[in-house]
Formats: sequence, C-alpha cells, structure tokens
Amino acid sequence: MPFIITDPCIGTKDTACVDVCPVDCIHPRKDEPEFETAAMLYIHPDECIDCGACVPACPVSAIYDSVEATPATQKSLVEANRVYRAGDAAAVAEAEGIVKAHVDAHADLMSVPPADRAAVHGK
Ligand code: SF4
Ligand code: SF4
Repeated sequence: MPFIITDPCIGTKDTACVDVCPVDCIHPRKDEPEFETAAMLYIHPDECIDCGACVPACPVSAIYDSVEATPATQKSLVEANRVYRAGDAAAVAEAEGIVKAHVDAHADLMSVPPADRAAVHGK
C-alpha cells in the first residue's frame, strides 16, 4: 500500500522526502522540469516500497502511510498521487488539476499555515 503526500506539501515543497527515499519514487525532483510549476510532490504508488523513511523527514507531516490512514479531507490527493507521472504531460496536468480542485474546495485548510495544516486534517 503506497504512502500518500497531502496538502501541507503545498507551499512547502522542500524535497526533504526526495533526499531520503531509497527508490527515487517521489516526484518531481528539483532536477525535473515539472518541479518549478508543480503545486506539490507526489509518490509513485507502484514504486514506493513502504519503507517509511519519508514520514519523519517531512517537516510539515504531509505524508500518510496508506490510503486508509489518509484523512477524508485529503482523499482526492490520493488520486493525484496515483495519476502523477513525471515526463507525462497529460498525467502531470491531471494531477495538478486535482490539486487545484482540492485547494479551491478547501479554502479553510489552505488558510492554515502548512506547518499546522496536518493538525487540522481530521477536523
Ligand atoms: S515510504 Fe519509502 S519508498 Fe515510499 S515514498 Fe517514502 S521513502 Fe520512498
Ligand atoms: S518533505 Fe513533505 S513538504 Fe517536503 S516535499 Fe516532501 S512531502 Fe512535501
């Protein structure tokens, strides 16, 4: 079961998780062209080996360890993680569209600073 990046990454995107992932399954990396415009990073669900290294590395607690553990307010971002594929323009656009819809639908969450956002995910 893959790990999932959620909305505290929006506005943070510091790539700390990329640096610790042993299988390079978190994208876009800083050296990939999509990085500058991506709203957040995504975990490739088929490549993630569930090692858990990214969770403590994330300074804003954006990463959940399974789809089931991902709070209801973040469920659409499970799909964004699923569809994102670096280098596939259509997939990137689809994932970014899901994130934009999430942002538009959750003005309440987006008004919370990224560092505090995970604490209110379940509320
Ligand atoms: S759980 Fe491990 S393999 Fe999966 S994204 Fe995190 S660091 Fe990478
Ligand atoms: S460590 Fe957290 S905030 Fe930083 S890029 Fe990864 S998921 Fe996003």
